[in-house]
Amino acid sequence: MTIDRKRIRWNGWGWADHEDHLSGNAAVWAWMADVLGLGGLMATPATPLEDIELPPLRLPAATLDALRAIAGADNVRIDDYERAFHARGRSYHDLLILRAGRIDAAPDAIIYPENEAQVVELLRFADEHALAVIPYGGGSSVVGGVNPATGPGQQGVLTLDMTLMNRIRAIDEVSLTATVEPGIYGPDLERQLQERGFTLGHYPQSFEFSTLGGWVAARGAGQQSNRYGKAEKWLVSARLATPAGTWTTEGFPASAAGPALGTLVPGSEGRLGVITEATVKLHRAPAVKDYRGYLFKDFDSGQAAVRALAQSDLPLAMVRLSDEDETRFFQAFSSLGAQKTIGTRIKSAIQSAVLSSKGLGKDFCLMLVGIEGEAEDVAYAAARSRAIIKAHGGFHVGRSPGRKWYEGRFNSPYARDPMMDHGLGVDTLETATRWSNIPTLYKAVRKALLDSMAAEATSPGARGIVMTHISHSYPDGASLYFTFVFPRDLGREVEQWQAIKNAASEAIAAHGGTISHHHGVGTDHAPWLGAEKGEHGMALLRTAAQTVDPKGVMNPGKLFGA
Ligand SMILES: Cc1cc2nc3c(=O)[nH]c(=O)nc-3n(C[C@H](O)[C@H](O)[C@H](O)COP(=O)(O)OP(=O)(O)OC[C@H]3O[C@@H](n4cnc5c(N)ncnc54)[C@H](O)[C@@H]3O)c2cc1C
Repeated sequence: MTIDRKRIRWNGWGWADHEDHLSGNAAVWAWMADVLGLGGLMATPATPLEDIELPPLRLPAATLDALRAIAGADNVRIDDYERAFHARGRSYHDLLILRAGRIDAAPDAIIYPENEAQVVELLRFADEHALAVIPYGGGSSVVGGVNPATGPGQQGVLTLDMTLMNRIRAIDEVSLTATVEPGIYGPDLERQLQERGFTLGHYPQSFEFSTLGGWVAARGAGQQSNRYGKAEKWLVSARLATPAGTWTTEGFPASAAGPALGTLVPGSEGRLGVITEATVKLHRAPAVKDYRGYLFKDFDSGQAAVRALAQSDLPLAMVRLSDEDETRFFQAFSSLGAQKTIGTRIKSAIQSAVLSSKGLGKDFCLMLVGIEGEAEDVAYAAARSRAIIKAHGGFHVGRSPGRKWYEGRFNSPYARDPMMDHGLGVDTLETATRWSNIPTLYKAVRKALLDSMAAEATSPGARGIVMTHISHSYPDGASLYFTFVFPRDLGREVEQWQAIKNAASEAIAAHGGTISHHHGVGTDHAPWLGAEKGEHGMALLRTAAQTVDPKGVMNPGKLFGA
C-alpha cells in the first residue's frame, strides 16, 4: 500500500497531523515582523477544500471504465481529495495556488499502476485517446514538474501515481547494486536496505515524501551527496515505459560502446518515459556518523575551507556552510523557539565571551561537517578535516550543532505553512558554478533577490531577507542555495513571486550558473534551459522525446516548455 493520501497535507508540507509548535509562538512572529520591517503580520489562512470548486472532469464514463479495466477499479481515483492532492507539486508557487483555491487544472483521473505491464497499457491508451500522462512519485516537485498540463489537442490528464510500484526487486550483494521499483518512498527504501546492511544514502530534505523515481527523474541530490552522489552518480541503469514501448539503458560498470544512454534518464522529468525500474549503487551502511559544527568569521573564509575539503579526497558525507544572514536567522529563529531558562541564558553569555575571544563578533558563519563510514575512516577524516578547517580560520564548536541539525534535518519545511498563514512569502532556489565564479554568482543572485523584493515591497520600510548556504561541493565547484522571505502582496502574490523568480533566474543565467543544481526544470525553469543546452542540444533532447513519444503524451510543458 502507498501512504494514505489523507494522512499527508494536500495544500502544504508533510503529515497532516504534524504537531505545529510555531503558529502559537507570538515571539517568533513579532521578531519576524520586525526583521521584515512590518508593523505586524496578517492572518492569511488557506481555503478549505470544501470551499473549492475543482475544474470539471473531462473523461467520459467509457474512458473511465477502460482505465479501470487496465489498472483495477480501486486504482482509478476521481474524488476531490485525490484530484486536489495531485493538482500541483509543493513549491511556494504551488502552495499559493492551492491555498487560494484557484485550482484551474487538476488531473481527470489519478491512476495507481501496480506493474510495468499496466503502465505500458495506460500509455498506449493515452496515446490513442489524446490524453496527457503525468508521472507522479511523491509530488514534492518544486519546479512545476507534476502540473496536470495538456498538450495541443489533448482532452484530459491522467496522473500516474507510481507509489504502488514500491518493491525492491533484487539486491546484488556481490556487485553492491539494488534493482528497485520507482514508487518506493525514501524511508521504506532505506529501512529495507539497512535491514540487509546497505544504504543508498540519498536523503533529500523531502526524503519522507519523495520517491526513487522522482529522485532520478528530477536529477536530485541528497544532503549527504558529497559521499553518496547525486542521482546521476548512483543510477546504474533504468527501464522506461513509453507510448512507443519500453526501453532500457545499459547496466555496465563502464563502457566505451558509444555515448551512454543512461545519462539521458536522470533529469528526463517524465519526457522520455515512465521509469518502471531503476538499478542503483549501494554502499555498506555506515557504522559511524560524526556531525560537527565550526564557525568562521565570514562566508569568504568558510568558502575557502569548503573548497579545500572538496579538493582533499577525504570521504566526507556533507559540508554545509551558511552565510552570515542564514547563520543569524537560524540562531534567532531556534532560540525564540527554545525555552529561555536561567541555564540557557548563562550558557549563551559564556558562548558570546568565547566567540569574541576567537575574533568572532555578531556576524559569523556556521559550517557543519558530516562524516559517515567505518570507525577508523571516520576518525581519520575527522582529524584531517579539522586540521584543514583550522588552517582556514575555522573554530571547532563540537558535536552539538551537528547533532541538532541531524535530528531536525527533515523538519524545517514544516515552518513554511505557518509562515504562509501569516502573510509571508518564502521560497528557495539553487544553482551551481565553478569555484572561481562562486563569489560573483553569490553576490549577483543575492542582489537580484534583494532588489526585486524591494521593488515588490508592500509598504514603506518593508523588506525581504535572503539567506544562503553551500551544501553540495565538488573538486571544481559547488552549489549555492538561497532561501528568501518577504511580505506577500496580497491579491497579486503570483505576479510578485514571478517577478522575484525572474530576476533571480536572469542573474543566474547572466553570471554563469546552472538554472538548477538539483530541483530540476519542470515548467518554472523551462524558459532558461535553451540558453544552457544550446540550439542543437535542445533539438537532440526534443528528438529523443519524439522518438519514444511522437504525440507528446508524456508530461507536456515540462523541461522543453509549452
Ligand atoms: C520541502 C522540500 C525539500 C526538498 N529538498 C530537496 C533536496 O534536498 N534535494 C533534492 O534533490 N530535491 C529536493 N526537493 C525537491 C523534490 O523533493 C525532488 O525533486 C524529488 O526528487 C522529487 O521526488 P518525488 O518523488 O516527489 O517526485 P515528483 O515530485 O512526483 O516528480 C518529480 C518529477 O519527476 C517525474 N517523475 C516522478 N516519478 C517518475 C517516474 N517513475 N518516471 C518518470 N518520471 C517520474 C515527475 O513527472 C516530475 O517531473 C525538495 C522539495 C521540497 C518540497
